[in-house]
Amino acid sequence: MLHKIAPIDSNKLLPNENMKISPDYLESFIINLKNNGYKFISIDELINHLKNHTLQKKSICITIDDGYKDNLTYGFNIFKKHKIPFCIYTCASFLERKANMWWFGLEDYLLQHSNIFFNNEKIQLNTKNEKNIAFLKIRDYLISKINEYENAKNAMQEMGIDYDADKYNDLALSYDDIEFMLNDKDNLMTLGHHTYSHPIFNNINDEVIKNDITKANDIFNNHFGFIPKHFAYPFGGKIEVSKKHFELIESLGFCSATTTRHGSIFDKHSKYLYALPRIFLKDNFDMNTIFDFRKKQVVSD
Ligand SMILES: [Zn+2]
Repeated sequence: MLHKIAPIDSNKLLPNENMKISPDYLESFIINLKNNGYKFISIDELINHLKNHTLQKKSICITIDDGYKDNLTYGFNIFKKHKIPFCIYTCASFLERKANMWWFGLEDYLLQHSNIFFNNEKIQLNTKNEKNIAFLKIRDYLISKINEYENAKNAMQEMGIDYDADKYNDLALSYDDIEFMLNDKDNLMTLGHHTYSHPIFNNINDEVIKNDITKANDIFNNHFGFIPKHFAYPFGGKIEVSKKHFELIESLGFCSATTTRHGSIFDKHSKYLYALPRIFLKDNFDMNTIFDFRKKQVVSD
């Protein structure tokens, strides 16, 4: 699991930078694993192997969440050079330029200010460390409070944090960017589904979830002529998404769904195609540990 592919910027705050893998590290990761006999497979191949019980050891499937522009700017050439299939689970609101990336608005605000009032308490923001800590504190509060990104903007405004949401829109992939990658002759990209508004499933009811997914379906269908069949839960951790959601996604006709729960995939997962675990790939990831996560365990609740 990846999110952003771009050089690490030491002027920015850690929590957002942690969503990144640097292009250099990504390429060395690919070369290293290829040299050690690993095979990179697409999400379609992964699911077919699980269904047919033919999944080989040393298989790697790269999936990327959200739909950031840097996936094309920095990632695509690396994937193309080494013929690596990848799936980008895209939020339809990213494509529509309605994403409201409040986490970048919050970061810029904290970087530009030397203190902030949060919960009637004045927090000093003199050092990078103080800013990182404040970011995590406010992010946790926002995530617990919001259902959709739009609500986050209101919640931040109540705290006196104003930002121009449109400023960050170009950090997302555009329709043309997706078309460009889908039309590439090497056929490496799979377009995945990541809802419209990236809501926390446990914070909203099933009807609202279905509406959000339908809204994204219409957008994908109108622009690309198909609805992506592989799904990634937005916020796929244990507190954000539950077993009933795995069943809901299956009932909506998707072929597979990935969580953010930590683990590698084994034959056993053929029975849990809607709760597939992943491993968060970051710079300096220890490759020797890659197959040690939750060995032979499945995530089912
Ligand atoms: Zn996401």
